[in-house]
Amino acid sequence: MSKESQVEVLGVRFDNLTMREAVDAALALIAEHRCTYAATPNPEIVMLSRKDASLSSALKEASLVIADGVGIVYGAKILGTPLKARLPGIDFAGCLMQELAKTNGRVFLFGAKPGIAELAAQTLTATHPGLSVCGTHNGYFSDDAEIIAEINAAKPDLLLVCLGAPKQELWMQANAGKLNAGLMIGLGGSLDVFAGTVRRAPESWCKLGLEWLYRLIKEPRRIGRMRKLPVFLIAVIRCRLLERRRLRGNSDAR
Ligand code: UDP
Repeated sequence: MSKESQVEVLGVRFDNLTMREAVDAALALIAEHRCTYAATPNPEIVMLSRKDASLSSALKEASLVIADGVGIVYGAKILGTPLKARLPGIDFAGCLMQELAKTNGRVFLFGAKPGIAELAAQTLTATHPGLSVCGTHNGYFSDDAEIIAEINAAKPDLLLVCLGAPKQELWMQANAGKLNAGLMIGLGGSLDVFAGTVRRAPESWCKLGLEWLYRLIKEPRRIGRMRKLPVFLIAVIRCRLLERRRLRGNSDAR
């Protein structure tokens, strides 16, 4: 993506795209078949990347960075550089698979606990007729080489890497050069949702930007992780105030 169509939030560059534009960009990357990768950072991942140089590097090398989560959209707005849309990673992948299904595109599902990717495959092939799930592998493994061989034999157009952050981003960066695939997307817990073992928030909650609250109610153990959301917003406000002070300082100096 060109620099003009990017928005930076606390050191992470997001591509400023509508859903249609993001899907078209992903289809173009698939057509190139260079095994590039897309990341879908939320505020938690952005905060993690500020402390974890390897995650920050993996995000910088991504060919597509999608603004997953309402917090990123608020953050960009506070910084004075609003994004066109919020693009939940799972919806982005859903729209992309819908397009791939039209040409019998091939998807490999990698991640989650044993049995989950297979369940997700059943749902996805039922909801996207024409889509070919060409392989699955759970996300609890010790040997990268075995998985890489399986993926390369399957030659997917799209590889969903659902290992949670930062594992999935680091895995994609480390292995991109060894894989025969079109595009990879790091998608966190999406296979659990496709499989139906984890429920997504109802649409009305999503529209209000309250998906995080629904997840918290359903999985209270996430409270520790969710504390990063207010910390993220405070860091964004601080960044904005520092920028304003810097600009005021510049104009006073003139
Ligand atoms: N996971 C995995 N391998 C690991 C650790 C996690 O496959 O070594 C999977 C886990 O089973 C879950 C997903 O990665 O399906 C992470 O889900 P989480 O809800 O934490 O991600 P989020 O959607 O919040 O990014």
